[in-house]
Amino acid sequence: MKLAERVNRIKASPTLAITEKANALKKEGRDIIGFGAGEPDFDTPVNIKNAGIKAIEDGFTKYTPVGGTDELKDAIIDKLKMDNQLTYSRSQVVVSCGAKHTLYNLSQALFEKGDEVIIPSPYWVSYPAFVLLADATPVILETKEQDGFKVRPDQLEGVITKNTKAIILNSPSNPTGAVYAFEELKALADIIAGSNILAISDDIYEKIIFDGVPFFNIANMRENLKDLTVVVNGVSKTYAMTGWRIGYAAGPEDIIAAVSKIQSQNTSNPTSISQKATIEALRGNQDDPRKMVEEYRERRNCIVEMLNTIEGITCVKPQGTFYAFPNVSKLYGVSYNGGTISNSVDFAEYLLDEANVAVVPGSAFGSDDHIRLSYATSMENIRKGIERIKTAIDNLKR
Ligand SMILES: *Cc1c(COP(=O)(O)O)cnc(C)c1O
Repeated sequence: MKLAERVNRIKASPTLAITEKANALKKEGRDIIGFGAGEPDFDTPVNIKNAGIKAIEDGFTKYTPVGGTDELKDAIIDKLKMDNQLTYSRSQVVVSCGAKHTLYNLSQALFEKGDEVIIPSPYWVSYPAFVLLADATPVILETKEQDGFKVRPDQLEGVITKNTKAIILNSPSNPTGAVYAFEELKALADIIAGSNILAISDDIYEKIIFDGVPFFNIANMRENLKDLTVVVNGVSKTYAMTGWRIGYAAGPEDIIAAVSKIQSQNTSNPTSISQKATIEALRGNQDDPRKMVEEYRERRNCIVEMLNTIEGITCVKPQGTFYAFPNVSKLYGVSYNGGTISNSVDFAEYLLDEANVAVVPGSAFGSDDHIRLSYATSMENIRKGIERIKTAIDNLKR
C-alpha cells in the first residue's frame, strides 16, 4: 500500500529506538547499562497512585470534558499562579494525553505551509517532527556550547523573517540541561515582542533544577508577553508519571480553543483516572518530587565528574533535567576493529558493542559532536557504566 508522503517526512523517535534496542539486547542476556531512557527511574509517589486507585473505585471511569475536568483545570490554574505568577482562566487551559500530545495538537492548531518555526538546537527530538507534520518549516537555530547552549539575541534576530510564526523554548533543556537566566530570557523576550511571534515555552523540566538556580518563564519577562506565549507543562518528569499521560497548555483563549477542537476529533479527553491522580500530584505533598531532585543532583555531580576524567571527553555541568550532554568529538577519526568512529551514531554504536552501554547519539538532537546520557538510573549503574565507557575508550587505538 502506498503510504502518505507525511510518513516519510519524519523519523521514528530515536530515543525510544535506542531504548528498545538496549532492551532487546538485555533480553538476549547481554548485561547492558542503559543511559538512553528519557524518563524518571523512580516509582510514581504513593499518594498519587492512591488517587488513581480511588478514581477507579469511585467509578470515575467515563468520558470527561475534552480539555480536562474543571477540577483539574483549577489545580493547574493554581499551580501556574503559585509557581509562575501567571493568571489564567479555565478557557485558557487545555489538558492533553502528555505534553507531547499537547505540543502536537498545538502545532496542528497553529502551523501551516509557509510558516517558519524557530527551533534552537540541540533540541528535543520531537519538535522538528511536529512542525513538519503540520506542513510548516523548522528553522534550526544552532546554539554554541561556549554560549552554554543558549540562544544569543543577535542569533535570534538573524533568523526571524516575515514568515516566522513561533519559537519553541525549552528551559531546562532536554538534552543539554541548560537553564536560561533572567537577563538572557529578557533579551529574547524583547525581540519576540518586537516581532510579534509566538513563544511556545516547554516547561516540562521546570522543577528538575539544581543548586537554587531560579526558573523563569518568558511570559513574565514583559508586559503583555503572556498574550504571545503558550506555556506547556506536564506531570511526567516531575512526578515520575510518564505512563499516566497527562500534559497541559495555558495561553491565549483562541489558541486553546483551537487545540481543544483538534483534540475533540482525535483523542477526546485525557484518561479520567490520570486526571484525578494529577490533581493529587499538583495539590498534594511535594516531598517526593523534592527528594527525586536531590537524588538527580547527586547523580549529576557523579556522572559529570566521572565523564570529565575520560581523555577526549568534556562535559559541561547541566543546571537541570536528568541528562548529561558530553562532547565526544575529539574522539572522532579514531579507528577500531577496522572501522572508524566518525560521528555520534558510530560512537553510540561503539559503546553499545564494546562497553555494553546504551547512550543516544547527539545527532538525534541536532548536535553530532555530543552524546546524551540520562542519569535517571541508579548511582551504581552510573559508576559501573561510566567505568565501562572509560575502559572502552582507553582501548581505542589512537
Ligand atoms: C519528556 C518530554 C516531553 C513530553 O513528556 P510527556 O510524557 O508527553 O508529558 C516534552 N518535552 C520535553 C523536552 C521532554 O523531554
